[in-house]
Amino acid sequence: MSNNNRLSVCIIGGGVAGLSAARVLQKADVPFVVVEGSKRIGGRIFSFQHKGGFLQHGATFVNGDRNEIYRIAKREGLIKDVVGDFDLYRDFSDVRMEEDDLTMEDKAAFTAFTKDLEEKYENLAERNPHLTVREAFDEDYKHFIEECPSRSSRLHSFNSLSRLYLSYYEMEWAANTNQMALGNFTQWDDESETSDESFSLNSIGYKRILDELAGSIPDALIRLETTVRNINYENQESVFVNFADGTSEEFSSVIVTSSLGFLKAHAAKFFVPPLHDEKMRAIEAIGFGDMQKLFLEYDKPFWSEDEDSIKTIGLSSSPLLGRGNLFEVVKWDRKTLTLWLSGSAVEYAGMKTDEELKIEITEHLRKSLNNDSLEFPTRVMRHGWRNDPLILGSYSYLTPSSIQMGDANAILANPIHSHDGRPLVCFAGEATHSSFYQTTCGAFLSGEREAKKLVDNIT
Ligand SMILES: Cc1cc2nc3c(=O)[nH]c(=O)nc-3n(C[C@H](O)[C@H](O)[C@H](O)COP(=O)(O)OP(=O)(O)OC[C@H]3O[C@@H](n4cnc5c(N)ncnc54)[C@H](O)[C@@H]3O)c2cc1C
Repeated sequence: MSNNNRLSVCIIGGGVAGLSAARVLQKADVPFVVVEGSKRIGGRIFSFQHKGGFLQHGATFVNGDRNEIYRIAKREGLIKDVVGDFDLYRDFSDVRMEEDDLTMEDKAAFTAFTKDLEEKYENLAERNPHLTVREAFDEDYKHFIEECPSRSSRLHSFNSLSRLYLSYYEMEWAANTNQMALGNFTQWDDESETSDESFSLNSIGYKRILDELAGSIPDALIRLETTVRNINYENQESVFVNFADGTSEEFSSVIVTSSLGFLKAHAAKFFVPPLHDEKMRAIEAIGFGDMQKLFLEYDKPFWSEDEDSIKTIGLSSSPLLGRGNLFEVVKWDRKTLTLWLSGSAVEYAGMKTDEELKIEITEHLRKSLNNDSLEFPTRVMRHGWRNDPLILGSYSYLTPSSIQMGDANAILANPIHSHDGRPLVCFAGEATHSSFYQTTCGAFLSGEREAKKLVDNIT
């Protein structure tokens, strides 16, 4: 039998949750090691150098002003602006479409129609949290078309604008609108006065935040390129962590911070003995969507000095650009655009080379903007989260079936205890936070939460 007091804690994953857990254990003098399968720490914080700053493949904005991520951003002078989550989707007058039969009247009517929908859904969520965004929208859209006879003849235009409107939810919530429950609007909370604003950061942004999070943790306690194949806790006293290289190590406890995408794909074999049914149901029920950015670098911008974003709609048959598209000018490098991809466009992009994407995007922009000489981007920069074997998607959201379970995030978070009641296998990560899921802030809080449970148990 082992003496668990002499064994370390194994933190699986060097993302925000893993690092915040490490900080708590470090402070409390509890021995630990962070094992990270990839070559870098940060997980879904992934900054890469570009010109004089850093672009972010993952987290970009900070939510709420009452959390440690905000405090770091504030202290380090990283905060640039306050941005309304829905700002770019309040007005459809500037939308450009490939088959451009959109009239100004169509755009004005659609803008008026969607103006109060977000607020309406927030209220509706109180009474009907299980309804999906798509169900609620379809009902309203049907009335919008029916209430004015001339709109039926403009169905093609309004259907196109609807695709763009719905793509906001796919992008902002990384959620399939057929699966995204209205309950997200009441459940999600960044603990600030208004939950529909976030902070944009300067050209350093999350690079500095990650440096700060990792700063106090000795390098020797973070093992990179160390993938965990599975964990065995059947003796109910310690945990054997089996690594992909065939080695194995015994720990007093583990904190699993793998993404919900990873758990969906691997939970059935990752835990020995298997997780109980309710936790497996929570893993299945909580949604984990697809969203990623394509950074498109140009020699010469085709947009004007005062343009910060371009909204387009492709043909409904296009898997890449058929939904609504948002191209945003990078504020500190006006020669680069961020194209936000969501839903099945992410899967499609994952199968294409950069050259193929450049062609498809340029053809779409040429047709939408009526500019046959619009140039190709010189470079595409991207990270496919869906194909990242240790992430397998972007972030979590509530579905009707997860809401049906009560607090599915809390069920996911519940630790497995040893035979003498000690937390043996703990669960952290953004998807384990009941109200601040999806975010770096929620991930941070979840890591702290689980590490404190271990510290409290020792002291
Ligand atoms: C495109 C995109 C944009 C985003 N934008 C924002 C934003 O603007 N603001 C915001 O707050 N949040 C944003 N998020 C979400 C935010 O990045 C995440 O919620 C947060 O970073 C998750 O942290 P985590 O520690 O829970 O998980 P992760 O960051 O996924 O960390 C888990 C780590 O565990 C490792 N791992 C997994 N399994 C194993 C294993 N078996 N063995 C070893 N290592 C393993 C992974 O490699 C990973 O490094 C965005 C995410 C994406 C993808």
